[in-house]
Amino acid sequence: MRETSSPTFTLTPLAQPVRSVLLYVAMEAEASGIATALALSAPRSLRASSTAMLRDGEHNGLRIQLVTAGRDALLGVDHIGPVFGALAVARALDTCPADVIINAGTAGGFQSRGGAIGALVIARDVQFHDCRVELPNFDALARAHTRLSLSDAELDAIATLLHASVGGVSTGSSLGATSNEIAFFTREKTLAKEMELAAVAVVARERGVPLLALKSITDLVDQHEPAHEAFVKNLAFASARLARAMPQLLQWLRARG
Ligand code: SAH
Repeated sequence: MRETSSPTFTLTPLAQPVRSVLLYVAMEAEASGIATALALSAPRSLRASSTAMLRDGEHNGLRIQLVTAGRDALLGVDHIGPVFGALAVARALDTCPADVIINAGTAGGFQSRGGAIGALVIARDVQFHDCRVELPNFDALARAHTRLSLSDAELDAIATLLHASVGGVSTGSSLGATSNEIAFFTREKTLAKEMELAAVAVVARERGVPLLALKSITDLVDQHEPAHEAFVKNLAFASARLARAMPQLLQWLRARG
């Protein structure tokens, strides 16, 4: 079997010290527990022309700005997925500059690689898995394989603290997975499959802002239960795990300098 691919792009490492954090969370159901755990303000509009919502506050000496992409006015559902993820983070950085972006959210996991419902994954790298551009360099551009900002030592320290696994995250526009995508996840030893992180990584690269990501598993891609059923069943549990981990992650960030 061939080795997993190497990231094409890298991001700015974490600055010393971190004082302000932009926390981007796709879904309201994922965000509300985190907001409570960090005692943030009530949500308000990020800016007039956007559905994105902002909650903010001070936590353990850090300025925290929690942004969600908001709800679609026509369809009444959260603005999930890569397009809204990138838009929300880019707009948030315009009004809320920060020393680091953290993307926290839920994801599909892989039982064959140690995944379990509610288990945490701290992302080493991320790429898009559902793009096919059979042209040199355009392919790498579309895949946007990016090493996130944490060093191996930092990843290991956080993994120990949070009892999380360290590994590759994969982003696409679908909740389910095709057989080709499943073969791709096996080749790449993917630990978490979700719908926003690779897009957020493109924004972080363009803006030169460090990025790290923590994902909590709602469903197991390599099990029989359909992803949408497992997702709905486990969303509250997996989001609660994320909310419990967030103060610990922020404390680690604060303590490093
Ligand atoms: N029907 C759901 C839609 C959620 S889509 C609803 O209640 O509105 C899934 C969201 O959770 C995305 O933001 C994505 O990042 C994450 N996610 C969790 N499990 C996933 C999986 N197996 N594949 C892709 N995204 C997943």
